[in-house]
Amino acid sequence: MKKLFFNGKIYDENFNINKNLLVDDGKIIYIGDEDIVLQEKYEKINLKKSYLTPSFFDSHLHLYLYSKSLFELNLSNIDNFDDVLRKLKEYTIDGDIIWGFGWDDEKWNCKPNKKFLDEIFKDRYVILKRRDGHSVWVNSKILNEINIDEISKIKGSKVEKDENGDLTGILREKAADYVFEHFKEKQNIDKILKKGVKKLQSYGITAICNMDGDILPHLIKNRFNLRIMNSIPLNKLKEAISIGIRSDFGNNFLKICGLKIFMDGSLGSKTAYMKEGFEDEKNNFGVKYFDEKELDEIVNEANKNGIYVWIHSIGDRANEIVLKIITKKGRHKLNRIEHSQIVSENFLNFLKNKKIFLSVQPSHILLDFDKIEKFLGKRGKYTYPFKSLIQNGATLIFGSDAPIENPDPLRGINLAVDRVVFEKEFFKNEAIDVEEAFKSYTINPAKSVEMENNIGSLSIGKFADFVTFTDDPLSFKGELISTYIEGEKVFKKD
Ligand SMILES: [Zn+2]
Repeated sequence: MKKLFFNGKIYDENFNINKNLLVDDGKIIYIGDEDIVLQEKYEKINLKKSYLTPSFFDSHLHLYLYSKSLFELNLSNIDNFDDVLRKLKEYTIDGDIIWGFGWDDEKWNCKPNKKFLDEIFKDRYVILKRRDGHSVWVNSKILNEINIDEISKIKGSKVEKDENGDLTGILREKAADYVFEHFKEKQNIDKILKKGVKKLQSYGITAICNMDGDILPHLIKNRFNLRIMNSIPLNKLKEAISIGIRSDFGNNFLKICGLKIFMDGSLGSKTAYMKEGFEDEKNNFGVKYFDEKELDEIVNEANKNGIYVWIHSIGDRANEIVLKIITKKGRHKLNRIEHSQIVSENFLNFLKNKKIFLSVQPSHILLDFDKIEKFLGKRGKYTYPFKSLIQNGATLIFGSDAPIENPDPLRGINLAVDRVVFEKEFFKNEAIDVEEAFKSYTINPAKSVEMENNIGSLSIGKFADFVTFTDDPLSFKGELISTYIEGEKVFKKD
């Protein structure tokens, strides 16, 4: 049955506002202001003057890690033991295993012990990782299920006992690793992913580029209401080539796309590969994962077999090398850089007329704000210089890198447009206009994976994937009401 969405404020691909949208079999067959003659029986949906935009496409997201993070209990920055217990008691997320992290007993006036956990959780497994990641605090249900004598014998493992010789529930180093690995396999990954997808829909996201490429079997088994453009892990390149997998293989809900490669580390840990050392560590140039020649060979191998590349590159030196390699003559036009966080004048000049996609994360400005000045000094102005990148011919595609950052697209758009962090401006001259920012979260990502004829804007012939807002999201006033995929509501705010 045809569906008529009427009485709305619907943004079309030129950012003009229209009243009506007609959907047939999941696709848009009309958008405009004319009153639709109801010749046939249409389902009518009154939009009551709400605003409609195409739903969002996050170009860089870790679907498994993000979904998993929704189940984890964050115990960081809790100084008081009673508050830790209170937080545990308030934990209501269902599932067999309770995963937590961040506790720090140095701040407490008592020692962590399994008995506290047993009182709260009798029937569920509890695994809480310490702040440094080297110890876990578990309950008796876990201890009863592992062979503690065997684990004690593992080299480098430490199983803590109290003065009476009883287990405390604290396992350190290799013993902690063992518990982690052993119970990881017990997780219900399908269920975890389902929750992640739901949460993304609540932000108006209906398409992603998934950087956790190795969950492919779960994505094939479940048909999630999320358009997933999946990466190929580098260690699966040979296999993919040998069985004939190419980028673009798949359908409108699950597609194989780029080969994920790491060129360097991160700014936070000062492992970004730099032309000059960090301000506070002049001899540290970061790390590179590949020599130029090695990377060139990998890209060549992938491209000549029809697979394009998504290369993680943060530092200015890494970015110059990667840009040169991926834009060589004959290389795939959809090769792109992930992050491209710190660039250089050279990079910007080289970019001209290359017409490539850069997958950038506006919310990283927030994450790295304090480090940028400290580590980069004057080079700070080359961190995510959105306007310069666009002026030099790049097409920006936005993403969140969730769970590293909150996946809310409006937050990212706002940062790209305002460039205000903690009430301070961050190179305001690199701000972009709001329409450009919206495109970077909708149509541009669609183009970067050749989906622009199906999604990314509200126009005739495309799928009716959209979001409704109480007020105009382009002036950051509206709140999200619902998310639709192919004209079907998949999320509604209560
Ligand atoms: Zn990432």
